[in-house]
Amino acid sequence: MYDVVIIGAGITGTMLARDLSRYKLKVALIDKENDIADGATMANSAIVHTGYDPEDGTLKALLNPEGARIYDTLLDDLGCRYRTAGAYIAACGPEEEAHLDVLADRADRRGIPYEWLTGDEARRNEPNLNDQVTKVLNFYTTKIIYPWEVAIACAEVAVGNGVELYLNSPCTGIDKTESGYTVHTPEHDFETKLIVNAAGVCADQINAMVGKPRFEMRPKKGEYFVIDNNVHYVDHIIFPVPSAKGKGVLAVPTVYGNTLIGPNSDYIASTTDTGSSFQGLDYVRTNIVRIMKNAPLNRSIRNFAGLRPSSSVSDFIIEEAADAPGFVNAASIESPGLASAPAVSKYIIENILRDKLEWTENPDAVMTRERPVVMAELSEEERAEMIRKNPLYGRIICRCEQISEGEIVDCIRRPCGAHTVKGVKKRVRPGMGRCQGGFCEPRVLAILARELNISPLDVVLDSKASRILCQENR
Ligand SMILES: Cc1cc2nc3c(=O)[nH]c(=O)nc-3n(C[C@H](O)[C@H](O)[C@H](O)COP(=O)(O)OP(=O)(O)OC[C@H]3O[C@@H](n4cnc5c(N)ncnc54)[C@H](O)[C@@H]3O)c2cc1C
Repeated sequence: MYDVVIIGAGITGTMLARDLSRYKLKVALIDKENDIADGATMANSAIVHTGYDPEDGTLKALLNPEGARIYDTLLDDLGCRYRTAGAYIAACGPEEEAHLDVLADRADRRGIPYEWLTGDEARRNEPNLNDQVTKVLNFYTTKIIYPWEVAIACAEVAVGNGVELYLNSPCTGIDKTESGYTVHTPEHDFETKLIVNAAGVCADQINAMVGKPRFEMRPKKGEYFVIDNNVHYVDHIIFPVPSAKGKGVLAVPTVYGNTLIGPNSDYIASTTDTGSSFQGLDYVRTNIVRIMKNAPLNRSIRNFAGLRPSSSVSDFIIEEAADAPGFVNAASIESPGLASAPAVSKYIIENILRDKLEWTENPDAVMTRERPVVMAELSEEERAEMIRKNPLYGRIICRCEQISEGEIVDCIRRPCGAHTVKGVKKRVRPGMGRCQGGFCEPRVLAILARELNISPLDVVLDSKASRILCQENR
């Protein structure tokens, strides 16, 4: 009998799995996909918002500032990459400046630091800021992260402490039992006392398996341009003043030196359509000019889209279902879900699960993760020493991002290691550069086949069905 089954291994589910793994609890984390963090956690702006934006009185307003504060130490504990880039909210004219006052007032009440800049002061730091920008609110503690790296790190810690991870395990049904629930997946049935539904855009389907529909997921697509990392465009995250449609089209530096330009925000009927569209990208193209000039869209190396797990409720839904005791929704986790995740997990444990389980600390639990080797971050001497110990660190597989075979092998052999080409790309980045895998992908495929001891024909790009090679040639 499991104590908790978590459905969904995005940032919400993995963060909770890590926090539960501190205790002597039997926990399963299940996901329908072939890797951790393949949903919204994979495709977003990667910003740890400080928490000035959510409306007063919402769960978002409660959990976003706290989540951001927890990240201050958590990212180092998990050995994850981040940069404190700072976020400029750029106002054009008196009407928008008045809205900055609202944000500053919220920030004051929530203890979030900021500074005011005139348009000219901001342009001195960010020369590509538009000439129409008159005033800027700088939330200088705002961080950028690699969101799926954080989810993978949480899963590694959780699994290291005994949480069981089941990939390729879509929850297909849930039955009520005397002592809890049975969660059905094609290959396993999980008897459990409690369920946490962290299924992102599919959370309403999971909720409907146990009780009355309480909310409807309404995925909102956001599309981006990824600008080559040899173009220096911005140092800070640059936002327009937020509107009813969301945070608007932004320019965001990434921790690896690219710039993201986007996203749009369009409701779509599908929970799986992450394709880019002409209309979506055109919206980004025409709206970035509100606050930025010289947008280097001609240096885009890729487009991508993510689906926000938005719903009929305009706030996070984090509660035990009234008609299904022991079934907890962590649903409608749209932005700032990434920034709030550590606090969402804490809230679920403290406010919902606390009275339902026995909380004995596991003395052997290790809550931190050692940072994987990143050769590009080391000094020449350190690199030479690594290569002396293991020559695979000297064999560059990805020319664009300078990633060695040693780093790829490490990410395959780690707990919750990569077993797909995209899994390797997510963990150590071959294929993220200018050639988008044109040169390195066949070599990554060969390394995966060797390390997993499978035929190259059985190596997949991402899902179990996404084989890359169809037959041997002569
Ligand atoms: C365009 C865009 C920009 C964003 N920018 C930011 C930002 O800058 N900062 C920020 O804080 N937030 C941002 N967000 C929001 C953030 O990405 C989400 O709030 C967060 O990733 C939600 O995580 P999650 O784990 O709840 O959902 P997901 O990451 O979607 O995870 C849900 C998981 O459930 C699994 N699942 C679904 N159905 C089943 C089933 N039947 N059985 C088993 N598993 C199932 C899925 O495979 C998936 O892995 C953005 C989102 C988007 C789309």
